[in-house]
Amino acid sequence: MALNDAATLVAALRSAGLKITPQRLAIVECLAGDATHPTAQELYERLRDRFPGMSVATVYNTLSALDSIGFCLRLDMGGAIRFDPNVAPHDHAVCARCGAIRDVAIAQEQQRPAAEDCELPGFQVERVERIYRGVCARCTAAA
Ligand SMILES: [Zn+2]
Ligand SMILES: [Zn+2]
Repeated sequence: MALNDAATLVAALRSAGLKITPQRLAIVECLAGDATHPTAQELYERLRDRFPGMSVATVYNTLSALDSIGFCLRLDMGGAIRFDPNVAPHDHAVCARCGAIRDVAIAQEQQRPAAEDCELPGFQVERVERIYRGVCARCTAAA
C-alpha cells in the first residue's frame, strides 16, 4: 500500500476512480517522496511550472480520493489540511514555532488502543492519534 512505484500509483488512482493523467501521476509521485506532510497548496506550487493549467483543487481532490481508499492520510492539525504518504500507524511531532511535522515511530510499549476498542460513551471513535508538541531542531538552532 505504499505510493512508491509507478505500478502502485496507477493502481491507486484507478481504484480511487480517477482517470490516469500526467498531472495526477505527478501529484501522487510528489507526495510519495515527501516526509514533510505537505498541504495541497505546497504540492501545487512545486508542480505548477510543469503543469501550468493545473489547479490547487485538482491536487486537493486527487489526494482526498486517495485518502478515501487508504493510500495516503489526510491530516487535520489545525490550519490547512496536510497529506501523509505514510499509511503505517505512526504518531507526529509538531513544531510550535514553524509548524513542521515529522513522523514518530510507535514503540511497542506505546501501542495505541484500536479505535474499535475505545469506549467513549456518546462518541464514535474513528481514529486514535498522539501528537508530540515542541520545538524542532532547526528552530532550536535558530533561537
Ligand atoms: Zn520548527
Ligand atoms: Zn506522518
